[in-house]
Formats: sequence, C-alpha cells, structure tokens
Amino acid sequence: MKTIRIAIDGPASSGKSTVAKILAKKLGYTYLDTGAMYRCATYLALQNGLDASQVDTLLTLIEENPINFGKAADGSQIVSLAGQDVTLAIRQNDVTNNVSAISAIPEVREKLVDEQRRIAADSGIIMDGRDIGTVVLPDAELKIFLVASVEERAERRFKENQEKGITSDFETLKQEIADRDYKDSHRKFSPLKAADDAITLDTTGVSIQGVVDFILEKAKKIIDRG
Ligand code: C5P
Repeated sequence: MKTIRIAIDGPASSGKSTVAKILAKKLGYTYLDTGAMYRCATYLALQNGLDASQVDTLLTLIEENPINFGKAADGSQIVSLAGQDVTLAIRQNDVTNNVSAISAIPEVREKLVDEQRRIAADSGIIMDGRDIGTVVLPDAELKIFLVASVEERAERRFKENQEKGITSDFETLKQEIADRDYKDSHRKFSPLKAADDAITLDTTGVSIQGVVDFILEKAKKIIDRG
C-alpha cells in the first residue's frame, strides 16, 4: 500500500502529539515528535550553563549527545539523550520557558531538520512541530494545522502536567503558552505558520477522537488514490 507523509503543525498544546501518536499507531507509521528534539537541545544548553549566543558549543553538545526515541512498557514515548532518559526532564518548566530562544537559532534548526528529514526518508511518517509543512517536509502529502483557544490549551497542559506530577499554576501556564506562541510565530527563521496548502482545524471543544477521525479520513483518501 502507498505510504504518505503527514505533517501536523500548530501552537503549543494544540493536541498535535496526542493526535499524531494515535494516527501513527492506526496507520502503522513512524511518529516523530520534533518538539522533543528542540527540548533536548534546550536541556543540553541549560545543563551546561549556555545561553543562546554560545552556538558552537551547543552544536558540539548536540552532536555528542544523540537523541533517541523509544517505547516504555505501557507504550508511552521515552526520549533519551546519549542513553540517559530525559522524558520528564525535557517537560519541566525551565526547559519549556527557554525552548523558544534555543529553537530560534538557525544553526540548531538546520542540524535538527537534517535529522528529521533523514528519519522521514524511511517510510510512512507522521511528524508534529511548528515548521513541518512549511520547511521540513514541504511536499508532505497531507498537512494539518491544529489551532485551539489559549484557554483550552492551558487547560489541557494543566491536566497533562498534573498527570505527570509537574506542579503548575493555571494563569501562569496560560501566559507562558501565549508568550511561547508569540515567540515561535515571530522568529525570523521557520516561524510557526500554516503552509499555504495545509488544512486548518480548530480543535476548541472537539474531542481527540473527533480530530483523529477527521485526519484519518483525509489520509485514507490520499492513500486510496494510490
Ligand atoms: O511541541 P512542543 O511544545 O514540545 O515544542 C517545544 C518548542 O520547540 C516550541 O515551542 C518551539 O519553540 C520549538 N519547536 C520548533 N519547531 C518544531 C517543533 C518545536 O521550533 N518543529
């Protein structure tokens, strides 16, 4: 059967990764969480006391600490950096609040995008991020841009954090999400934006299943066309 590339972009906590993981399982495709890669780069910068101006040192650290994705016994994603499990560490507030500064560095993007494209070359792929449809896979067969109100996205992130045992304040979370969206959309290189040929879906008030069904129907139509 024909395999396709599905790009899912959108602002923070718009449901991209939840939906992408379910779709990947249903279609038997590889799922790539590109946000986790930028989070790993940010984690390395913080651990080593670097700021966004120390680009060369950061690039060396990224090279020396390969990012790998694995699966836990319950099927959830494990992210490791040079063999160290950083799944929870990269979701902590310090990483979240610094990731936009690190992901705005063009050399960091170039390195991670190369790796993303290498992984996508394999077979059927679902990738989520900010620039997948515009930069990483501009010829992806299906491009989805998910949006949702800041209020709803903050609620989702709040619940997600609770489940992961991360303490957060709702109003602070809302402000942080809005700030991150602003920075990601206004950066010079590969800003967060919908590709001209992307389908934009507002998921405010829509269930995860509803979003999955919508994308799956579009994907199946393209796959069936052969
Ligand atoms: O998706 P997630 O919220 O984990 O992404 C974390 C950050 O990584 C984003 O806020 C953005 O700064 C950066 N990112 C990016 N390009 C991508 C994916 C994520 O710049 N393709």
